[in-house]
Amino acid sequence: MEQTDRYSAGEALDLRMAIDGKRVEASDRARMTTEDPATGRVIGSFPAATADDVDRAVASSKAALKGAWRAMTPTARGRVLSRAAAILRREAERMARIETLDSGKPLREARTDIETSAAYFEYYAGFADKLQGDSIPLGMDYMSFTLHEPVGVTAQIIPWNFPLTTTARGVAPALAAGCTAVVKPAALTSLTSLLLADILDEAGVPPGVYNVVTGSGSKAGAALVAHPDIAHVTFTGSVETGQGIMRSAASHVASVTLELGGKSPVVVLADADLDAAVEGTLKAIYTNAGQVCSAGSRLVVERKLHAAMMERLVPRAAAMTAGHGLDDPPIGPLVSAEQLRTVGEHVERARTRNSLTIAVGGRPLKVPGFEGGHFYAPTIIDDAPADAPAVQEEIFGPVLTVQIVESAEEAIAVANGTEFGLCAGIYTRNISRAMAFARDIDAGQVFINQYFAGGVPTPFGGTKMSGFGREKGLAALSSYYRVKCVTTRL
Ligand code: NAP
Ligand code: MG
Repeated sequence: MEQTDRYSAGEALDLRMAIDGKRVEASDRARMTTEDPATGRVIGSFPAATADDVDRAVASSKAALKGAWRAMTPTARGRVLSRAAAILRREAERMARIETLDSGKPLREARTDIETSAAYFEYYAGFADKLQGDSIPLGMDYMSFTLHEPVGVTAQIIPWNFPLTTTARGVAPALAAGCTAVVKPAALTSLTSLLLADILDEAGVPPGVYNVVTGSGSKAGAALVAHPDIAHVTFTGSVETGQGIMRSAASHVASVTLELGGKSPVVVLADADLDAAVEGTLKAIYTNAGQVCSAGSRLVVERKLHAAMMERLVPRAAAMTAGHGLDDPPIGPLVSAEQLRTVGEHVERARTRNSLTIAVGGRPLKVPGFEGGHFYAPTIIDDAPADAPAVQEEIFGPVLTVQIVESAEEAIAVANGTEFGLCAGIYTRNISRAMAFARDIDAGQVFINQYFAGGVPTPFGGTKMSGFGREKGLAALSSYYRVKCVTTRL
């Protein structure tokens, strides 16, 4: 009983959908539940939207686009988004606890997520009245200029690994550009996207500008993407689902941003600062138990430093204890029993079928008092060949593979040797090598001497199978406005 209280939000988490400023049930009253991944216990519930509900949400967002949101001056829109950032910060501790309960992530990471979400609203608020066009010189007889117009109603399909930050990452630039948004959070982690509706209401966002439809991806998500009134789809998730979304959006020629994960390398050259490389590698793979699209899941190390890196990484990984996210342990549970199973399968295949060396971890973890939790041990697979499935496939768990190379040139080739191209890190004291790597690597973000360097203002997105389109920074805005050119004969 005591444990139930300690590991609860202290409030009921049976939520309703946010459509047109109201909190509503699904048209057929169906509901779904969500669990705490550390205990396996149900902690909340929400409606399972029908296609009718999705229709109502899109119609409401369409009306708001042409109505109240358009009527507001860009400066007023920016002020509303600034207020959203402030209210989110006021609610930060409550939101962080709920994010941890729903997703499993350690509390410090959830706190960072909430702060980052507020930072997205703050950052894009400033652009609401600065998205201005150009004038085009055509000579004496013409006047020509461009308008930046909102693309329209956007669909935002959110993954379970960063529930609120991914929502804010797409919604804040969309709203700043004058678009409206219908959000479909992942069924595993829908709570904070729903609670954001209350915050945006309080900030003065008009009804219909931010709607949330909850439910399964195959039903609510698919109906939303296929809706003919959706002008742009922002999607983060798996390659396969992203490909389906692109096909569906094609039916009504909606533009798409696809952020599809990766197999990002952390390259450590022989002249690297060893301590920085060790800290960076641990952070790259064990943040959010490896359930990060931009995780550095492949260590590519020059032979000279291989033994030294392993000597430091293995005991550090072995010492990472798991626990309930609210106790802020070094590592939390995976999001679901399903995710635990697939991570375990990847590692078993590496061990048994591919005979790879599991230097540490390689098994689920039993955490006393949390027998229903989905914990997996921080794992390192040593000296893996480039063609091993563990090196090529996104595992999305706390599993690092190590590839040994003989030179900086080979490191680039090996780093580029997967079908993905999201992020890449390099540790070296040689600026020319670092810059040559930055030039030659297939990745949307390159981190030199600090993995995950950057943040809200730095453009983010992939190449190859990691997708296309950019989020974060100024670059994200271009998904949310279209240029109209007006030319007059005088
Ligand atoms: P997923 O299927 O790609 O789910 C991502 C989002 O898409 C969720 O909101 C999901 O809803 C929704 N969705 C699913 N099918 C849809 C459809 N037909 N139309 C519209 N929306 C749809 O990912 P997953 O199954 O949860 O995870 C599988 C793997 O994807 C992971 O192991 C990982 O490798 C990868 N992944 C990557 C990221 C990333 O950040 N790039 C994030 C999550 C997962 P529901 O979840 O409610 O069904
Ligand atoms: Mg949950």
